[in-house]
Amino acid sequence: TVSRLRPFGTTIFAEMSALAVEHSAVNLGQGFPDTDGPASMLTAAQRAIAEGHNQYPPGAGIPQLRHAVARHQRRHYELDYDPDTEILITVGATEAIAGSIVGLVEPGREVVMIEPYYDSYAATVAMAGGVRRTVPLVADGDGFRLDRARLAEAFGPATAVILVNSPHNPTGTVLSDDDLAEIARLCIEHDVIAVTDEVYEHLLFDGRVHTPLACFPGMRERTLRISSAAKTFNCTGWKVGWVSGPTDLVGAARSAKQFMSYVGSGPFQPAVAGALDEEMDWVHTSAADLASKRDLLSTALREAGFGVHRSEATYFVCADPRPLGFDDGETFCRTLPERIGVAAVPVSAFVDDVEPWRHMVRFAFSKRDDVITEAAQRLRLL
Ligand code: PMP
Ligand code: GLN
Repeated sequence: TVSRLRPFGTTIFAEMSALAVEHSAVNLGQGFPDTDGPASMLTAAQRAIAEGHNQYPPGAGIPQLRHAVARHQRRHYELDYDPDTEILITVGATEAIAGSIVGLVEPGREVVMIEPYYDSYAATVAMAGGVRRTVPLVADGDGFRLDRARLAEAFGPATAVILVNSPHNPTGTVLSDDDLAEIARLCIEHDVIAVTDEVYEHLLFDGRVHTPLACFPGMRERTLRISSAAKTFNCTGWKVGWVSGPTDLVGAARSAKQFMSYVGSGPFQPAVAGALDEEMDWVHTSAADLASKRDLLSTALREAGFGVHRSEATYFVCADPRPLGFDDGETFCRTLPERIGVAAVPVSAFVDDVEPWRHMVRFAFSKRDDVITEAAQRLRLL
């Protein structure tokens, strides 16, 4: 392996899922649901295969899906994108992020990201030859907030892009409108492009509302907005994502993407298009279910003796095992599957500055209630 990839080893999700399988553990590590998405979407994919949609789709994605993505953003956020030039279908959000970074970041330029960061960000910036600058979330009461002073300090003449992930994996934090306004102000002042990872845009709890950064004044023209079907429609294996933005920025992502995968997920594209148009009620029910799963798991963790952070969105809740006598999240997660048959992920895998996060552990609650209940019983053995 080349030196620029060596520090990243194997992804933490693969490592912890392998341990979960080895020890028949309840896997609350890797974030994926254990139930299927809307039935009409599953049938549409089967139909697409039966009807012969099995060859390369167009490079930008099938028109039907690009139009559905455009309609979806108009309906939810009053954001207008031209489906022919301003939307690109990708192999999941992962490729949308990689295409955007590789297409926009010159070697040596800096990419600002919130820490903890989704694990692909650091490796992708390294592959592009860029340099990452992290801005921490800091614990605040039972939640987290962005360190605004550090945010402003991170911007400078070398900054090319800020990668913004809200709702945030792994903490489940939703950035406030004030935080987003400050990010917008800095992007405009320093002429920086925002790449926004909004894969959890529909999975907010307790009446919270998601606002895309692109909705802020002056931001639509400098933002690549990324989302994916994976978490919205419970189809993480389909790998259908998209990026929306002004033609020149989407073109930059596309020039990289065409040599990464060329195209992908042919028969799944029409199925996702249909779901975006027809199945948002299903999504809203699913988000309400997730909120109750969050409650179920958070209560179980508290009863087992963990300190539990507030999760405002996503599939995840962060917990502190120090009251149980464990102060190192990585060691804790490496031994948990064998000890009690539960898998989780250490938050230290998503950071550069380990110290503030050393103890913290991420649990996924995107699981059937009986699975969470089984995990709860095992967690009581700690
Ligand atoms: N970004 C974040 C924050 C994620 O949690 C994930 C995992 N769903 C991804 C990107 C990757 O998305 P996809 O599976 O669509 O590639
Ligand atoms: N997004 C999922 C998570 O955060 C996992 C994706 C992956 O395994 N790469 O757990």
